[in-house]
Amino acid sequence: MSDASADEGPVGDGTRVVRAGLPEPVKHEPTLPGPVFAAHFHLPGEVAGPYSYGRDDNPTWTLLENAIGELEAPGRPDVETLVFASGMAAISAVLFSQLRAGDAVVLPSDGYQALPLVRAQLEAYGVEVRTASTGGDAQLEVLEGARLLWIESPSNPGLDVCDIRRLTVAAHAQGTLVAVDNTLATPLGQRPLALGADFAVASGTKQLTGHGDVLLGYVAGRDAETMTVVRRWRKIVGAVPGPMEAWLAHRSIATLQLRADRQNATALAVAEALRQRPEVSGLRYPGLPDDPAHKIASRQMRRYGCVVSFTLPTRAWAERFLASLRLVEDATSFGGVRSTAERRGRWGGDAVPDGFVRMSVGAEDPEDLVADILRALDESAG
Ligand SMILES: *Cc1c(COP(=O)(O)O)cnc(C)c1O
Repeated sequence: MSDASADEGPVGDGTRVVRAGLPEPVKHEPTLPGPVFAAHFHLPGEVAGPYSYGRDDNPTWTLLENAIGELEAPGRPDVETLVFASGMAAISAVLFSQLRAGDAVVLPSDGYQALPLVRAQLEAYGVEVRTASTGGDAQLEVLEGARLLWIESPSNPGLDVCDIRRLTVAAHAQGTLVAVDNTLATPLGQRPLALGADFAVASGTKQLTGHGDVLLGYVAGRDAETMTVVRRWRKIVGAVPGPMEAWLAHRSIATLQLRADRQNATALAVAEALRQRPEVSGLRYPGLPDDPAHKIASRQMRRYGCVVSFTLPTRAWAERFLASLRLVEDATSFGGVRSTAERRGRWGGDAVPDGFVRMSVGAEDPEDLVADILRALDESAG
């Protein structure tokens, strides 16, 4: 029965997510077995089989890894998925396990705010780091001779998009590995491995799990040898998820299609409402037909995510707006069922205007949310 989701067949996303990673049904056992809390497992005699020590493997991870693998690469049992304690643990596992002193890596200049920290660490280890922006496929210009290309599309927080297939073809032509941060899109929105990438990497903390209560990351890769190196990195660094987090994540994935369809449709409605407002500039949502990224996004994405970004005229204006919202919490992160927004400039890490707001659209009724946002805009008008 669990094979229904592994089979490419005519299975829709909703059908796939509710069954993803479930074991064969066993009489009197739950559909999704509970978390296995174990630092070690019975291991008489020789070390054989998967479960020996809890930093290396855990049955709750295995089920979750199977689930994520079925979403990132349906019908591709050759793809291996590894879960990590957080998105950053997963990102670091790929970069630090694949790169050596003297290698060059291309990162996005407009990616996740922890990438500059990663950059400094890579440089301290003798890795040459080049950056270019996501939009306009600008990373192509600095690709020559690089060992690894790191793509983040759509980028966070600017929501720019690049042509993943085009970049991957260029990278592979010169032997460069390609990893794509798929956090914003989720595997229901975009499948980097099908677009040619070697790794799909993501923070499961965001829309994948969607309730703002779990930190998680994963790496899915299609080359067994490379993934062995990533697995070894997980073992030596030990950035492993707790069984409870892994189980919560697996349970949450069952509603991913429902949540994503609701949240993303409302994100489009919010973007359309914001577009009417004269005080709003720099509005970005890849699903808006006139967004600069829409053309390429519509070729490689099936869903456009739940994040909308825009700029209000001043920092104070944005702060008044955020304080006026009743249904949208002022908080970081994104992808949860409760809407959140923040003035991104408060962190100091992103090159964004003072009035730049990143809004994550939740599962509230769209009309309630749009009304709250319009009211808050009225109340915060300069
Ligand atoms: C949040 C985020 C990360 C980091 O994930 P954590 O789970 O917080 O470690 C990485 N990439 C992107 C695009 C993100 O939004």
